[in-house]
Amino acid sequence: MSETIFTKIINREIPADILYEDDISLAFSDINPQAPVHFLVIPKKPIATINDITEADRELVGHLYLVAAQVAREKGVAEDGYRVVMNCGEKAGQSVFHIHLHVLAGKPLGWPPYTDKMKQA
Ligand code: 5GP
Repeated sequence: MSETIFTKIINREIPADILYEDDISLAFSDINPQAPVHFLVIPKKPIATINDITEADRELVGHLYLVAAQVAREKGVAEDGYRVVMNCGEKAGQSVFHIHLHVLAGKPLGWPPYTDKMKQA
């Protein structure tokens, strides 16, 4: 798959506010936060979308959730609650084709996550 901006963040070719790193994953603050706390958790392996996850990635994808929870605890939002989202495909809002968990917290989060305007589309 072609390289995305996230590969550049992994390789330190562009800066990011890195919150956690290990051999297989990275967590960093979102550049355009949609909540007081908004960070991304990515695998270092470049998987484009959820549709491209294979059996071999089972543990890796589970690991992303463990990292999300650990960083949420470190940010002090684990008890109050947080939302974890992974968009799949352009119509779902995916803009960077390297899978990533969004972790959002720090304000009441609406549900369901669509608007009346979107319902008409
Ligand atoms: P998506 O729309 O694919 O679900 O989410 C991509 C996310 O990556 C967006 O929330 C966007 O703000 C974030 N993002 C895009 N480019 C950069 C970047 O260069 N640095 C950081 N930290 N976040 C980025």
